[in-house]
Amino acid sequence: MKKIAVIGSTGSIGTQTLDVIREHPDQFTVHTLACGRNIDLLKQQIAAFEPEVVIIGRVEDLPKLKGHLGHARAYAGEEALVEAAAHSDVDFVMNAMVGARGLLPTMAAAKAGKKIGIANKETLVTAGHLVTQTCREHGAELIAVDSEHSAILQSLQGSNLSEVERIIVTASGGSFRDWSYEQLKTATPSDALKHPNWSMGQKVTIDSATMMNKGLEVIEAHWLFGLPYEKIDVVIHRESIIHSLVEYIDKSVIAQLGSPDMKVAIQYALTYPNRLELGGTERLNLLEVGKLHFEAYDQNKHRCLDLSIGAGKAGGSMPTVLNAANEVAVELFLQEKVSFLGIADIVEKALETHDKISQPSIEDVLAVDEETRKRVRAL
Ligand code: MG
Repeated sequence: MKKIAVIGSTGSIGTQTLDVIREHPDQFTVHTLACGRNIDLLKQQIAAFEPEVVIIGRVEDLPKLKGHLGHARAYAGEEALVEAAAHSDVDFVMNAMVGARGLLPTMAAAKAGKKIGIANKETLVTAGHLVTQTCREHGAELIAVDSEHSAILQSLQGSNLSEVERIIVTASGGSFRDWSYEQLKTATPSDALKHPNWSMGQKVTIDSATMMNKGLEVIEAHWLFGLPYEKIDVVIHRESIIHSLVEYIDKSVIAQLGSPDMKVAIQYALTYPNRLELGGTERLNLLEVGKLHFEAYDQNKHRCLDLSIGAGKAGGSMPTVLNAANEVAVELFLQEKVSFLGIADIVEKALETHDKISQPSIEDVLAVDEETRKRVRAL
């Protein structure tokens, strides 16, 4: 029985993780549920999964859980979250938080030598060098949850990384793939939130529309698989059937395909390197799909992707700045305070005006993250 801590349990990946766990009560049990402010949904999750530990974002919400905890102990705040991620009874930490605030729980789980399902890509973007080094030192294992990275992990099984020529990360192109640059000037949050293929949280859906998501995923792939940026390519594939590919030195290309359903990647992370049956998910019907399409990304429309690759290659504290500036820019866009194309402008400006730190410590990362957020808000 695998005891799982679901961090970010009320978000899109968190709820789907619980769906997978619900299907296999003989394999998985929920040890910890952690969420921010969605206390109503959390109460339902506590009733359904009877966790040992519950963590919420704010102390003032703790009284709302009274009478709903069963045998669980409840705590609030970041320190409690960090402790829960390292709890000795937990076998697997699913980090499904959104944003760089997922970094400290990831680091705690890494120090405790846990298996970590890393759906929180911003963690690896902002401090990939520290997270991977800590995992190596403490025998922790990072397991991809993002659909593209899960596809790469699956396509790597039985092969050596040294035999990889390159990996090809596919992108759906997001909500605006058929919009012209002119049209993008007036794009609104509600336009951007209509993703054609995947059902996801708000932040990642906006990131998909700007292609920042793909940029973050390139950096994530660099850290997860230890490959140089020159060996990571991006191609737009509008059907989201091929989730990513690995090309080997003998020119053989191995891909992972399936219906676009995050539960496949989530379950694979939980069962890796084995597999389990998965109900409810649509089987891939190639005859129904008929054709698959591939195209290059548009450097004008998708500036965020090139900004990310640039920040990734520059290394040091640059990806931290990229990520923090983007998180704030997305927030401002959702509040209709900046335009859609303004997101890339904000990120570019934040990168240009930052003095790079070459080997940032965890304290440096946290400080640069905070300073960048302040800087962007002041603009
Ligand atoms: Mg993805």
